[in-house]
Amino acid sequence: MSKRRVTKVSFLAILSLLVVFAFVVSASAKAKVTAPPPGMINSVLGPISPNKLGTTLVHEHFAFAYPGWFADETIAPYNYKAVLKADLAAIKAAKKYGIKTIIDATMNDVGGRNPMLYKELAKKTGINIICSTGLYAEHLGSPVYWKERVVWGADISKMMSELFIKEITEGIGKTGVKAGVIKCGTSGGGPISPYETAVLKAAVVAQKATGVPIITHTEGALGGVEQADLFLAEGANPKKVMIGHVSNSKDIEYHKAILAKGVYIAFDRIGLEVITPTAINVKNIAELCKLGYANQIMLSHDTVNFWLGRPIWVPDSYVPAFANWRIDFISEKVLPLLKAEGVTDEQIKTMMVDNPRNLFLGK
Ligand SMILES: [Zn+2]
Repeated sequence: MSKRRVTKVSFLAILSLLVVFAFVVSASAKAKVTAPPPGMINSVLGPISPNKLGTTLVHEHFAFAYPGWFADETIAPYNYKAVLKADLAAIKAAKKYGIKTIIDATMNDVGGRNPMLYKELAKKTGINIICSTGLYAEHLGSPVYWKERVVWGADISKMMSELFIKEITEGIGKTGVKAGVIKCGTSGGGPISPYETAVLKAAVVAQKATGVPIITHTEGALGGVEQADLFLAEGANPKKVMIGHVSNSKDIEYHKAILAKGVYIAFDRIGLEVITPTAINVKNIAELCKLGYANQIMLSHDTVNFWLGRPIWVPDSYVPAFANWRIDFISEKVLPLLKAEGVTDEQIKTMMVDNPRNLFLGK
């Protein structure tokens, strides 16, 4: 074989290898862009069947800080070991009562969302963790980044939906951890602001594209009905929407008005006595169960197991008011109180096991 012939053969061999390589790369790139497989859920360790969720806390935070905390990092740097220790203790307390799954509702634009932490916690404890993609209410989040772009005519809602979809289908940053819920919120009652409308519409676009449920923050005792109306008007699946923080309201008529929209509601600040005393939450939940709404209600605490930045200071007189704000409070204290009010074991299973599963299934 002449030297020229060898060169020609080698060239062809390399060319065909390159073609194969290009095909493999493009196929794997395509394979990456998938929503959770139909009927499956994105946990931080990969897709799981909804049947694996078991008893679920639908709104907690493994770590949290309001925007701007990083400005104080010189004084109070992120202490991964301390966060891990606090979270392992919290998960241990929850597991004692049979909690199998925790949804972390921390959004992109606050401090604390940490996919690698969630992964380590899930691996170390065997608990399922589902994390969020999304943006907070305007007055609590970091809207300036987005609003500055509106000035120049950008379609920020489209940009946000691209972000949410990418974090659900490909992963958060380069961690490979995929978000399993979309989290958003509003700042109160009345008309929803243009910024929050952009966020909520983006959430619906992402829900339609990926099938992932939307969970929300409402402010004060307001906003749940307006949120549900916007989601429905945009064509969201109401069975994949959970309006959060309805326990901010002591008024059962407010709860019923949201339930009438066909969405789920979450009494997810149970134990925060400064907002609504547990006795009132228990009375309202029991009454709603009697009225036949058990299959639309979920329960959680909205605990923050670790506050980033400097320790939060509260006056001594307020400390007892936060004593019940802990991840095992529902299991230990509230479920027995609900039973004493006539809520059945079956209804408790519906709220703690079946409804979280059905939220992901859209049932
Ligand atoms: Zn929260």
